[in-house]
Amino acid sequence: MHWLEKWLIPPRCVITGLPTLERDLSLELVNDWPVPQAVCPQCCEPSALGEVCGACLTQPPAFDRTQVGFYFDKELVDLIHGLKYQNHIAYAQLLGELLAERVSLEGVEALVAVPLFAKRFRDRGYNQAELIAESVAKSLQLPLIKQATQRVKEAPSQTHLSAEQRRKNLKQAFAIHAEKLAGLSHIALIDDVVTTGATMQSLADEIKQQTDVQVVEAWAVAKTK
Ligand SMILES: [Zn+2]
Repeated sequence: MHWLEKWLIPPRCVITGLPTLERDLSLELVNDWPVPQAVCPQCCEPSALGEVCGACLTQPPAFDRTQVGFYFDKELVDLIHGLKYQNHIAYAQLLGELLAERVSLEGVEALVAVPLFAKRFRDRGYNQAELIAESVAKSLQLPLIKQATQRVKEAPSQTHLSAEQRRKNLKQAFAIHAEKLAGLSHIALIDDVVTTGATMQSLADEIKQQTDVQVVEAWAVAKTK
């Protein structure tokens, strides 16, 4: 923020309304959000020593590494719901900055946001994952590749489905525009929340099959426990 702007409109926490030092979110809140620890680096599920888990060893997912900022808990739930369902578009910048601070970049050449189905995009007017990805790209100075993927099958609300049902639902859910990813070998997919990883699996699988990309990471602001 410009110093004059800062002086005229001091930053305030969007949750507590209290003045903050820099960002529009109190640091005390963020410091209290649970973060994944002792998890499998590939899928982010609990793994006692933080090593690759048995499930990933026996049936490796199409994504090579998962990096998430926090568990989906506390005020972060309000921020993500505000962004997705209440048009609080400004929250995307905050969420992207928080994610950018928590990921390790090693080798990542570009970012790709998880796409929304066209009708849902029209209803909402924006893709929250892409808005978050724009903020991450800006913070990390990485290119964000747009229109590289498309959701061609509507994802029904998956909240009450089992992992197996989700996987079935997601079969051929994405179209890949390979030319947009030409020359890239290591990318990170960005979403707001990962639940079972089924969406990331499906998208990473299609990308690896249809492009020269060899390493796909799954990044999300939050992961459900
Ligand atoms: Zn794993």
